[in-house]
Formats: sequence, structure tokens, C-alpha cells
Amino acid sequence: MSRTFFCGRKFWLRNAAAPNYHQDFKFKYMRTVGFGHLRVGLAAALGGAALFLAFPLSAAAQMPQAAESAAAAPSSTHDGTIYEARYAGLSMGTIVSAKLYASDEKTAAGLADAFEQKVAEYETLFTVHGDGPLNEVNRRAGQWVPVDCRIAALVNSAKTIAQKSQSAFEPTIGMLVNVWKIGFGGDKHPQKEDIKKALEKVDYKRISVDQTPGACRVRIGAGQSLDLGAIAKGWIGTALVQDMKRAGAEHGIIDLGGNVALIENNPSGQKWRVGVQRPDAERNSILAVVEANAVSVITSGAYERKIESDGKTYGHILSAVTGEPVSTDLASVTIIDADGAAADGWCTALFAMGSKKALDAAQREGLCVILISADLKTLWVSRAIADNVKVLDKSMKIKVVP
Ligand code: ADP
Ligand code: MG
Repeated sequence: MSRTFFCGRKFWLRNAAAPNYHQDFKFKYMRTVGFGHLRVGLAAALGGAALFLAFPLSAAAQMPQAAESAAAAPSSTHDGTIYEARYAGLSMGTIVSAKLYASDEKTAAGLADAFEQKVAEYETLFTVHGDGPLNEVNRRAGQWVPVDCRIAALVNSAKTIAQKSQSAFEPTIGMLVNVWKIGFGGDKHPQKEDIKKALEKVDYKRISVDQTPGACRVRIGAGQSLDLGAIAKGWIGTALVQDMKRAGAEHGIIDLGGNVALIENNPSGQKWRVGVQRPDAERNSILAVVEANAVSVITSGAYERKIESDGKTYGHILSAVTGEPVSTDLASVTIIDADGAAADGWCTALFAMGSKKALDAAQREGLCVILISADLKTLWVSRAIADNVKVLDKSMKIKVVP
């Protein structure tokens, strides 16, 4: 039987009945790309090299469940083999990895290449460096700039989230990000005057988007700077899911530096298990496990990129109102949604809002959320997903919310 969960109006979780052959699978095909690169690149990424998009904030980890289930009973309709292709590499300023599954070897063999190609395509599409289209929009601020329609659509979504979140998420935050430089070289509180000047350039209402097919354009206000770092990886995750399904992937888990996107269920026919990182601990230390399929699981927090100055800690999510890093009573926000861009953008917004406003907005927008308080004592979870979230830290108070 399939079950459907709703957080408000949004469909997000499908528990499709698993095809028989998934009861018995072996990993025959395995492909790892770019591991040498990964090791070199990891140091560069964590050392705060120039940023492409956003850095990861949560290391969501996949539990080793698929492998455990491999010894189940054989099926009569299929030889029981499922083929796994793996990819790991450094891209978009973070570690990108994927496990992709198909039931024939040839398809699986093509998946890692297809994945690598698509990641490169999205990196080029969304780069803010060189002659990338987003850089062009910023360089020619005040003028209409032709862009790929996928960019126009994402900018439009960003504008909508900015409006609905009352600027807690602000895609024109770029000038302010450049003043603080948190996570890419900034090490102290900037001059008040510089913050004030940057803030004058922050206003999503001055973004115009023209989505005429084949002739998409974007225009931002003069002096403004568009920053899609809080939403683009979410979009890319969902796009990769669709691309890989088209390329023949039947199951898969894609991790863009803590932004996880799931292709259907796992090869054993069960839900994928995705870890939510402990905000106070090392990467890969897990506080809760989310069971889900066919969705993105995205976390925002301020524990990975921050600076200490004058005895205070400043995180990398900034307030469009005060010009300072947001002060929030939340340690992290996780959103589970089929629309990765929405999950990513809203994650940043809810984190910035703090628990009270975030809970109201989550209910209003029909978002499936897990909020963790700054003191790590309370975890709020949306009712619709509560049965699919296992909290590992038994000392936490769990509050199920509408
Ligand atoms: P990450 O991708 O690092 O996990 P987010 O999705 O929360 O985290 O995005 C954070 C990035 O978004 C910052 O590095 C900055 O470039 C940008 N940003 C900072 N403050 C805001 C804001 N209030 N609204 C939108 N983007 C923001
Ligand atoms: Mg985000």
C-alpha cells in the first residue's frame, strides 16, 4: 500500500510499494569518480577558499541501511541484481557525492558519467565568478540581462520566498555578504558605515524577472548584488534527481555538502534514512534520523561558517533589517520537501526568524520541519513527519507541532 503524508497542502512523502526484485539485490557495478580530487579539494574547501555557492551547514549522513538489507530472500521475477554507481567530487565549494542505482549494468555504468556532467553544467550555470550569468547580472546591475530560463525561474522563486518570509530570506543580500565576508576571509565586525551603505542596496522588490520562453531576463537594482547561495544548491539537488531518473536511476541518494536529495526509496524498498547533524558537534555526529523518499532533506544552521570578534560569535546568515548576522534562538532548521529550492530558501528564512516566527511560518506555508533550539534542549517536529523522525538524543524535549 502506498501512504501519502501532507505537511499542510504540500505533498512530500511517498511510500511506494517496492518492486519484488528489490527484496534481493547485490551491488555489482561500482564506480567512484574524483576521489583523489576530493582529498585535495577537501582541505581547500574547509580552509575557506573562494566560495561558489554556499558552504554546507549540516552534514546529513545516510545510514548504512541499503547494504544491510542485501541478504534478503531471492525473487522469482528478476535475478535480484541491482547495480550501484558512486560519485564523489568537489564542486560548488563543497563535497558532492551520490549513490545511484539501476537494475541493469549498462544503465548504471552511464549514471556516474551523467551525474558528473550535470554537476559541471550546474556549476557553470550558477557560478558567481568569471563570465558566469549571475556575475553578469550583478556586473550590469540596473540593466536587463539575458539569462538561462532556469536561472530566471529560480530568481523568481527566491523573490517569492523573500516576500512570503518578509525578507528573512533576502536574495539581494549580496552587498552585505561582501562587507562581512563570513566564511571567506572576514574576521571582524565591519565598520557601521559600511554596513549601512550595503543595507541600502538590499531589497528584493527591486528584482525584475521576465520569464518569456527562449528570452528570459533578469534585472536587479543599480548597485545591488544577487546572492542565490541560500537556495541554489536546493534547486540543483532536485534538478539532479530529475536528470538521474531520466538517465535511468531507479533509486539514489545525492548529497551536496549536507543538502540531501533522494531518488525514490532505497534499493531494499525501504525509505532512505538521512541523518541530521548535531549542531554542536563534529560532522557526521547525528542527532536525529529522518526516514523519507523522493524528497530533499535540507538543513541550515550557523555552526560551520562563523567568525569570533570582540568576544561575540557571528554566523553567516545575515539580517536584511539590522545588517548584522541574525541573532536566533535556533541552532538549526531542517526542511523536508519535494521542492529542494523551496526547502533550502525556507531553511535560511526560518533559521533567521527564530523559533516562534519560524513555527508560525512553517504552519502557514505547509512546510515539514525539524527545528532545534540553540540550547539543544528542544526539538520541534511537524506532526506529518513526526513518525518518520527518530531523535537519537534522548535528553531532548520533543514538541510535535501542527
Ligand atoms: P548553506 O548553503 O551554507 O548551508 P544557507 O542555505 O542558509 O546555508 O545559505 C547561506 C548563504 O546565503 C550565505 O553564505 C550567504 O551567501 C547567503 N545569505 C546570508 N544571509 C542571507 C539571507 N538573510 N537571505 C538569503 N541569503 C542569505
Ligand atoms: Mg538555504
